[in-house]
Amino acid sequence: MTGFSTKAIHAGQEPDPTTGAVVPAIYQTSTYKQDGVGGLRGGYEYSRSANPTRTALEECIAALEGGAKGFAFASGLAAEDAIMRGLLAPGDHMIIPTDAYGGTFRLVDKVQKAWGVDYSLAKVSQPDAIRGEIRPGVTKLIWLETPTNPLLGIADIAAVAQIAHEAGALLVVDNTFASAYLQQPLSLGADIVLHSTTKYSGGHSDVVGGAVVVAEQIGVPEFADAAERIGFHQNSMGAIAGPFDSWIVLRGLKTLAVRMERHCDNAEQIVQFLQSRDDVTHIYYPGLDSRPGHDVAAKQMRRFGGMVSFQVAGGEQHAVDVIGRTKLWTLGESLGGVESLIEHPGRMTHASVAGTELEVPADLIRLSVGIEDADDLIADLRQALDG
Ligand SMILES: *Cc1c(COP(=O)(O)O)cnc(C)c1O
Repeated sequence: MTGFSTKAIHAGQEPDPTTGAVVPAIYQTSTYKQDGVGGLRGGYEYSRSANPTRTALEECIAALEGGAKGFAFASGLAAEDAIMRGLLAPGDHMIIPTDAYGGTFRLVDKVQKAWGVDYSLAKVSQPDAIRGEIRPGVTKLIWLETPTNPLLGIADIAAVAQIAHEAGALLVVDNTFASAYLQQPLSLGADIVLHSTTKYSGGHSDVVGGAVVVAEQIGVPEFADAAERIGFHQNSMGAIAGPFDSWIVLRGLKTLAVRMERHCDNAEQIVQFLQSRDDVTHIYYPGLDSRPGHDVAAKQMRRFGGMVSFQVAGGEQHAVDVIGRTKLWTLGESLGGVESLIEHPGRMTHASVAGTELEVPADLIRLSVGIEDADDLIADLRQALDG
């Protein structure tokens, strides 16, 4: 199995040996009959530790990211917590993006910090700024998102991997925005990749979940046992993906490649439309060769994704009015589903960073471009912009 979609449809998903069922069953069970004390069938003993539906998802996502071991969690943030608490100890330091996902920032700033793990912020698009925040011997982890939210900044994963490993730190990449189809950070030198499977992996806005994949080769000897440590933490902390949620994500992954191609096709058409408008002042999309980071994105991503942000003339109120007038684009947070979503980061997803250096432009609109017909999406945006 070498092709992405072949792996998405088959990795971890052999037909059931007893019934021939083509689709993995939802093993809605907490425990397993033992054939004599300790006589486990296939290693299953209790479903916090392992469950066959979750195993199927974990094997599939590990195959898609080209990693050694996958872990599925109840949410993206539970996955992040397992990485941080599984690998870091009080006194350690990590570097996170200035524009990290808000929940990531909250977890680091409010939870990890209280337990003695310190952090610094650095712009992901500036490898030298990341290097400048390293505290020799103390910095154990560098965290990247690329593209970032909502301004679609791009980090050079290979360059930052080198910086991290030289400093004895792990590189973790939150690959939620790109998806495993468009970008595979482990192949660029990252040690660990994580997803909020709530987004493109699930892809249908019907589940909350998270996943971690650990690389075959870890770039820092101290963390050679990273997979065991994350697995130990997953079982100890217990924020696992349940059987049904695992099954939903696994089902979503089967169509990830075709969905992402369509998300990209539609996003490109919408960007073209936005470029034709005089009342659109800025467009943020890594596929535009005028955007900083375009060359890096072109090198490390298959295509440029389904997230587009733009600024409108007429200020914040106009942006809010445009969002209020769309009929097909649903006003809502989250992203990565088949249906198109529109939101106002300044008042919604990024309201908590107002007044800080992370503040986003007040006239910014963020689109999660779905897989409907592009003509309908464009017609709706046109009428909303025209008023
Ligand atoms: C949504 C999201 C998360 C958090 O995932 P949950 O499933 O909501 O816990 C983390 N990172 C990014 C980039 C996200 O978009």
